[in-house]
Amino acid sequence: MIFLKSETEIQLMRESAQLVSRTLAEVARHIEPGVQTAKLDQVAEDYIKENNARPAFKGYGSRSNPFPGSLCISVNEQVVHGIPGKYELQEGDIVSIDCGVEKEGYYGDSAYTFVVGDCDEETMDLLRTTMQSLYLGIDQAVHGNTVGDISNAVQMHCEKKGFGVVRDLVGHGLGKSLHEDPSVPNFGRKGTGKRLRAGMTLAIEPMINLGTWKVKTLKDGWTIVTADGSRSAHYEHDIVVREGNAEILSTFEYIEEITKIRIDEIQLNG
Ligand code: MG
Ligand code: MG
Repeated sequence: MIFLKSETEIQLMRESAQLVSRTLAEVARHIEPGVQTAKLDQVAEDYIKENNARPAFKGYGSRSNPFPGSLCISVNEQVVHGIPGKYELQEGDIVSIDCGVEKEGYYGDSAYTFVVGDCDEETMDLLRTTMQSLYLGIDQAVHGNTVGDISNAVQMHCEKKGFGVVRDLVGHGLGKSLHEDPSVPNFGRKGTGKRLRAGMTLAIEPMINLGTWKVKTLKDGWTIVTADGSRSAHYEHDIVVREGNAEILSTFEYIEEITKIRIDEIQLNG
């Protein structure tokens, strides 16, 4: 069942999405070679609690194997759902950080892949293409279009470059739950799937691999990695379907104030 949100609800979702965005920027201040991913998780958890919210991922999942972190931190060939821990970031790594909060009953959910120090051009092209595909997908999230229009825009842009579009994990509706209907795959045909209506709130989140689209789950029961060990990128925004243009509730602006780069606009030689 898809829930259309009132403007009052959208305002609460905007506040949750903005808190997630600011949390990712706080984390960005600490991203450098030598930092443990557990440290980044602590920074996020402290910041979320200081802002009278709850880390939505902590304890998520089954009772026998709840997710232990406040962030999902996925390095290099890890696609999503990486568990924060003792790993120390290294120069040239990429690190995908996914953050979810619940504040006053409404969820925010956003992800960003960071570069640790300098990175090779092939990896930078993956990051740039993935972020561009997110915005191309968002461009399609307007009243009267379908979910397939979003999916197709993401898929075409990334496959044109020869990148693998992850199929096993998808974007989703968002609101009073972290995951609501509809599912928003990153692959699909134009004009197919659920019809988009003004007031629908979605988390759009391309997960794109340098190599094959195939993924597998590690023994920890959470961490998803690429099947071929190639690197993977992940960017996620929360949006409201509107007439004419989607409204983006989350933002990467606070991150960009810290990192001083616009990933989707970087110039590459290749
Ligand atoms: Mg997320
Ligand atoms: Mg999500």
